[in-house]
Amino acid sequence: MKSLDTLEFEPRFARLGDAFSAVIKPSAIEQPQMVICSQSALALLDLPASTADDPRLLQLASGEWYWPNVAPRAMVYSGHQFGGYTPRLGDGRGLLLGEVVNSAGEHWDVHLKGAGLTPFSRTGDGRAVLRSSIREFLASEYLHTLGIATSRALCVADSKTMVWREQRETAATLIRLAPSHIRFGHFEYFYYNQKNAELEQLHAHVLNDLYPECLSADEPLAALLSAVVKRTAETIALWQAYGFCHGVMNTDNMSILGLTFDFGPYAFLDDFKQAHICNHSDHHGRYAFNQQVAMGYWNLTAFAETLTRHVAVERLQNILDGYAAIQQQAYLTAMRARLGLLGEQEGDALLVDKLLAQMDHSAVDYTLFFRHLGELPVAEALAKLRDDFINRAAFDEWSAEFMARNVDDSRSQEQRRAQMHAVNPLYMLRNYLIQIAIEAAEDGDYAPLHRLHQVLSSPFTEQEGCAEYAQRPPDWGKHLSISCSS
Ligand code: AMP
Ligand code: MG
Repeated sequence: MKSLDTLEFEPRFARLGDAFSAVIKPSAIEQPQMVICSQSALALLDLPASTADDPRLLQLASGEWYWPNVAPRAMVYSGHQFGGYTPRLGDGRGLLLGEVVNSAGEHWDVHLKGAGLTPFSRTGDGRAVLRSSIREFLASEYLHTLGIATSRALCVADSKTMVWREQRETAATLIRLAPSHIRFGHFEYFYYNQKNAELEQLHAHVLNDLYPECLSADEPLAALLSAVVKRTAETIALWQAYGFCHGVMNTDNMSILGLTFDFGPYAFLDDFKQAHICNHSDHHGRYAFNQQVAMGYWNLTAFAETLTRHVAVERLQNILDGYAAIQQQAYLTAMRARLGLLGEQEGDALLVDKLLAQMDHSAVDYTLFFRHLGELPVAEALAKLRDDFINRAAFDEWSAEFMARNVDDSRSQEQRRAQMHAVNPLYMLRNYLIQIAIEAAEDGDYAPLHRLHQVLSSPFTEQEGCAEYAQRPPDWGKHLSISCSS
């Protein structure tokens, strides 16, 4: 085990130099308080659970202290925001505090979000608020438990430093971990600024340090695009399978590692709604739930564009053309598991689509439907679920098809339930649950947040006394408008 003072570093990104980032000291928040800490994230750095109470962690999170021999850096990048190109973005309120290597040889960027002004702050104040920091913490750690690739969250600290959003709020910070913070937007910045030498330096870093398996390919950068297409397609497939709506899929929020990254006004669906828009600034629904797959492709083409000086366009296009099939395959695999379907059959995609159309029409809960489907033998489960559908005849028709698809299933109900429950969470990170935890935390009571995080850390296992976390939202909690000012 390590302590925060004995971690080891390897500056893979920092060594790229000043064309890639600016050395900036964090500006500390006042009277910091530890709000929540993730023990499983601590373990990634070989830090014991007791680190949560180590004053050093609070010093690090508040920006009061950072590692003496590692210069904190704000990264420069650009990106397409809602389809329009912004030539320079960068870490406007975040700093890469250090690149840690753990005992397993894994690399973890330690990134402090809300650390104050940087050369990339534009009109912002360099701060993050408690509300958005808690939201990012919960989402990262929850997606991870669902098995969805994501950046991780180490801890959140609150303070007495006041900032202005729609109202006065306290400034908070979040420590985020990821093997790399490189985004599609990094490539775009050097490509559109015609900084070829730096673009090639970036290529070398990403290939050598993040995708070494691509180095032996005939064209490593083509192999890189294939790998990024695959990871992105698989991550988005799982977003769709579990009802995660990212909300701000700009290219500067797209991780080169295919991680779910940069959490803003995200939402997990309660009622299943294809056209759900979670970002209330997204007036045209560019990033609506049912646009995410297409937007993933759009973003990948923006990334591929940055490779056009190095790889033939036809080759890039060929690789991009593979995206839809990879995505669909990963999605169907996840949905078959959620529905408890064994093997693969021709009509599976249609069976899923028909069900979702009906769930959408009847506003059926996207989490509990699957959980309940596994709870009882198929026919009994369907008979019970039928009550949730408005068009009973259509649901009966679907049920008959589903029963026919299940005829060869020779598992015992115990086996079937165990397999389905292992992929269908009972406890979902619902917006209203987050809201309750945030409001208490804003009043200085972190207990509801800790309890929510605790329950959600085993989302597939029914826990005693936790029935209230497994319910559909009350009316007030169904249509919460999530501010994207974070
Ligand atoms: P986001 O919407 O969080 O992905 O941020 C988009 C860009 O705005 C990034 O360059 C952020 O660093 C920057 N940004 C967001 N909020 C702030 C803030 N409060 N202060 C400075 N920069 C910010
Ligand atoms: Mg961002």
